[in-house]
Amino acid sequence: MAAGEFELIGRCFTGRGAGRADVRLGVGDDAAIVAPPAGSELVLALDTIVSGTHFPAETAPRFVGHRALAVNLSDLAAMGAEPAWALLGVTLPSGDEAWAAEFARGLDELARRHAVALVGGDTTRGPLAASVMLAGTVPTGGALLRSGARAGEDVWISGTPGDAAAGLAILQGRLAAGGAARDDLLRRFLLPEPRVALGIALRGLATACIDVSDGLAGDLEKLCAASGTGAECDAALLPLSPALLDTAGTELATRLALTGGDDYELLFTAPPAAREAIGALAAGAACRRIGAVTSGGGVRVSGAALPRDAGHGFDHFGK
Ligand code: ADP
Ligand code: MG
Repeated sequence: MAAGEFELIGRCFTGRGAGRADVRLGVGDDAAIVAPPAGSELVLALDTIVSGTHFPAETAPRFVGHRALAVNLSDLAAMGAEPAWALLGVTLPSGDEAWAAEFARGLDELARRHAVALVGGDTTRGPLAASVMLAGTVPTGGALLRSGARAGEDVWISGTPGDAAAGLAILQGRLAAGGAARDDLLRRFLLPEPRVALGIALRGLATACIDVSDGLAGDLEKLCAASGTGAECDAALLPLSPALLDTAGTELATRLALTGGDDYELLFTAPPAAREAIGALAAGAACRRIGAVTSGGGVRVSGAALPRDAGHGFDHFGK
């Protein structure tokens, strides 16, 4: 590693995130040492974001740092895990320390809010990309899996899906918006807020859970495939935000909610007997029932098979 990069690690990536008593050794040695609590299991996730693929190349570095951690927090949220320790692998095109410092600030702010310590990583030169390995804990046996859904259960979604895909489209000049709606939708793409508290609260209530990164319909298909079930959702029950409806109209808003990506909301199943308990959760206010688990027959929305253009919403706007 070049001497410049050694200094960059010291100035940008040391002491980031929350201080945690269970970190025995953080940045500075060959590896980190942490002490997971007794009676818990480690839950591990790693997601990479690549410039031009997962975010537009000109995205401000603070938002890139936020996203690098947020996508992993969302994976842990979907498992019902409490996040704790992160490793960061970052590849930078040049030794642009101002860029790295802003990137680190975006990651640091989100990490502190979720009590995550940055305990190590790797810094390299090359095309801009960032990987975070995030570790958290669940009480032994308590994780939420994709595979637990059963016919007759409810399908729930948190938040207002579709907003982030609209925000990306606005950034890329494929969708026009103004005023507060524009700001709302841009923020939903640039600063996603993973549902960590909700995931933890759903332990023992949800039977299956997945975070929505590739579009609600496609991610529901993955959950159903893992559970050996189908699902029937009602498009009229989708929680569409006023900002999305004002900007895109009902038809496009519905399509973005079903097939747009980058929502980082939780899609989960639970028996009807859990409705009251879910409604009573502090984080449950954001959750809506959108359908039911069926014994088979794939995923259907308002009686129709899935839209086949699931992806990142690119198909919705033409060129
Ligand atoms: P090694 O050569 O032993 O792999 P490095 O010189 O790459 O170690 O890294 C030195 C220390 O800095 C290690 O503790 C490593 O975890 C940490 N580190 C390197 N890059 C980052 C980064 N981007 N974020 C956090 N910690 C980092
Ligand atoms: Mg070493």
